[in-house]
Amino acid sequence: MKYIQAKKILSVGKPEGDPWFGTSYTINLYRGCTHGCIYCDSRSDCYRINDFDQIEVKQNALELLHRELKSKRQRRTIGFGSMNDCYMPIEEQQRRTRRALEIILHHKFPIHIITKGTLVTRDTDLLKQISKVYAAVSFTITAANDELAKKIEPQAPSSTDRFKALKQLREAGIYAGITLMPILPFINDSIDNIKQIVAKAAESNASYIIASMGMTNRDGQREYFYKKLDQSFPEVKQKYMNQFGNDYSCASPNAKLLWQTFNSECNKYKIPTKMAFYKPINNQQTSLF
Ligand code: SF4
Repeated sequence: MKYIQAKKILSVGKPEGDPWFGTSYTINLYRGCTHGCIYCDSRSDCYRINDFDQIEVKQNALELLHRELKSKRQRRTIGFGSMNDCYMPIEEQQRRTRRALEIILHHKFPIHIITKGTLVTRDTDLLKQISKVYAAVSFTITAANDELAKKIEPQAPSSTDRFKALKQLREAGIYAGITLMPILPFINDSIDNIKQIVAKAAESNASYIIASMGMTNRDGQREYFYKKLDQSFPEVKQKYMNQFGNDYSCASPNAKLLWQTFNSECNKYKIPTKMAFYKPINNQQTSLF
């Protein structure tokens, strides 16, 4: 781990928000991530992170956040978790995500967090308070089976523990659901996996499930992914090479069937497949809830 200085802490996206999660700003308090997901898009060359497994802590991030939020004229949703997991193990002693949430609470901004980290439950008190404006927590869960999840997300908490954390947040009244993505062709793209994830989401009282039936596979990301396929799924790499070549986007060959299953299972359990976003109403900064 090493400390670095950042020039800015909020990246600005579209004012109307990202179409999936409704976020207009993204925040990354760290560079790099230790969950070790074999499919990690953040390893792509375009992001220029030389050693992704070496965590860099943005030492001045909290001062920057306070200053940048103070200068924003409109409150729009801030997204955590775009380039790394803000609840990876280093956060336990660094507590930077927690301190960022305190600053965001002070400035009354809405947030969306994507994580695989069960440590998020530590911050339930703050999430409840931010929820008065808007807070959503999405747990990424790609495999219902813990053994399969261990192979594709080796250092992340088990899927079982992620479902438990989701349930805990829901019991605390927090808007929380699942990002069922990525789906890796020939690995977790089975009907049974989709059915089990939706059933477990229902048991955990998930507020929503957002799905995608494929993955990205870019330069940099691809080399790491293929190396890990050789180790854990030796028969699969050649299938990727034959089917997708150097394509940026790899949809599951089962995508049509998977979507049908996903939609009918979500319908069965009455789980929304889209999120409700924060929306300012009549120029007032008001929560949807
Ligand atoms: S949690 Fe996200 S950023 Fe971290 S390794 Fe996994 S996919 Fe990459």
